[in-house]
Amino acid sequence: MSKAFSPGTLCVQAGWSPKKGEPRVLPIYQSTTFKYETSEQMARLFDLEESGYFYTRLQNPTNDAVAAKIAALEGGVAAMLTSSGQSANFYAIFNICQAGDHFVCSSAIYGGTFNLFSVTMKKLGIDVTFVNPDDSEEAIAAAFRPNTKALFGETISNPSLEVLDIEKFARIAHSHGVPLIVDNTFPTPINCRPFEWGADIVVHSTTKYMDGHATSVGGAIVDSGKFDWTANADKFPGLCTPDESYHGLTYTQSFGALAYITKATAQLMRDLGSIQSPMNAFLLNLGLETLHLRMPQHCQNAQRIAEYLSGHKKVAWVNYCGLPGNKFYKLAQKYMPNGSCGVISFGLKGGHEVSIRFMDALKLAAIVTHVADARTCVLHPASHTHRQLSDEQLIEAGVRPDLIRFSVGIENVDDLIADIKQALEV
Ligand SMILES: *Cc1c(COP(=O)(O)O)cnc(C)c1O
Repeated sequence: MSKAFSPGTLCVQAGWSPKKGEPRVLPIYQSTTFKYETSEQMARLFDLEESGYFYTRLQNPTNDAVAAKIAALEGGVAAMLTSSGQSANFYAIFNICQAGDHFVCSSAIYGGTFNLFSVTMKKLGIDVTFVNPDDSEEAIAAAFRPNTKALFGETISNPSLEVLDIEKFARIAHSHGVPLIVDNTFPTPINCRPFEWGADIVVHSTTKYMDGHATSVGGAIVDSGKFDWTANADKFPGLCTPDESYHGLTYTQSFGALAYITKATAQLMRDLGSIQSPMNAFLLNLGLETLHLRMPQHCQNAQRIAEYLSGHKKVAWVNYCGLPGNKFYKLAQKYMPNGSCGVISFGLKGGHEVSIRFMDALKLAAIVTHVADARTCVLHPASHTHRQLSDEQLIEAGVRPDLIRFSVGIENVDDLIADIKQALEV
């Protein structure tokens, strides 16, 4: 479907265009495999002389339709679904980094991604240097080495809620001949499209707003098709030299702008197999159909609640990039003029016990390890996700010991504020 349509239309209709007599709603192709009529037909698929489905680990029509919708929303050339945001981030890096390689990453990222990059990928021989995203271009550039293959950041970091200066990061990446990979989970393409600001690859945990109903863990990788891998062919041998495991094809020669995403599907997904189930892709698609309606509501509600908390005498501080006094207000206005996301964080005066009492007293907002779905939820990282860390380690990880992460849902905002008000009075 044409990229000329607005995001709202793409949310509802992109990816699935049924022909005469076909189901109006994207069907769940709940099948591991696909039938052919002659042995010759099947052989031609394996020789890459014809394209067609044959095994769901490689490709599945339901997943492909949903991936095409996400690609259209981000303004990319193609996308691939994965079983989780974690696998999307792993594949996005592993597609261009091998043992002996290195990449540079903003320190303001999701804790799961931080573990993946700093511990697990190191065991594979892929090294990472974390940089303070607020540092100057020169300071960040100093982290690059001859074997650096990518720069990585999050549009809005989870849970520290820092806004990435995408144009600055794109300049730094491109002046070193490497792509900028951006995790766009929190704003979603409704509020920010990183390709328009110079990013080359976008990744998502579709588990969050894209699904939006907390039913399905999933991820996606989107390729802008714009990065010229051949300009620095020596850096990207996996894309620019023949792949003996794939008919000796060279991805850049055979697939052009689709080289990166084709390698991710044909090689990484084939070999590592973290597919999204067609059932989950179907649920994700239902979520996407209302993404353009839900995101503005999340943002309006979060703005109202952030303003309410800012004026409350029991609240010590509030972090939301929609507040004019926030450190990231200007960057948020530039990259996300229509709203950022529904997640805010704040601290209460009086420390730990006060926070716990407040959270236990909430009636609408539920205590869950999740963010970014339709129902308002709350988490105290120091007592939950990060409870093994000391206060010093918490601060190093960008998580204040008193930080309450509040994921504002799409309920009526006056009801949510009344709930917060009564819980602060307990
Ligand atoms: C949740 C999250 C992830 C990990 O995604 P899963 O779907 O839980 O594997 C990655 N990045 C960000 C920004 C997230 O919020």
